[in-house]
Amino acid sequence: MRPDANAAPAPTTPGEALEPIVCGSCQRTLPGDSRYCPHCCGLDGRRGATEAGIFLGAVLGVLAGGLITAVWSSVVGTEQTRWSHVLATLATCIIVGVVIGVVRTRKR
Ligand SMILES: [Zn+2]
Repeated sequence: MRPDANAAPAPTTPGEALEPIVCGSCQRTLPGDSRYCPHCCGLDGRRGATEAGIFLGAVLGVLAGGLITAVWSSVVGTEQTRWSHVLATLATCIIVGVVIGVVRTRKR
């Protein structure tokens, strides 16, 4: 039985066939048949997937930006490396990573 998307999450009733589960993120008790935590992921889990995509994109952006910065500073010399350029490179990589993460999530 699928839960109604418009209905509020029903409190766990005693004597149900499924064991209640506890969300790993917010520690709330959920009905045993819920595949996603409605508090963390939204009713269909899409929000959680989008947030995971954003997070992954940001992490990859930081890694890529850090790598580019390291290579760049070794090429031009540390004294020539401007922090405004470093920050701009990092920000660009993070934004690109987040956009890619969101787009990839949306396509599923
Ligand atoms: Zn939760």
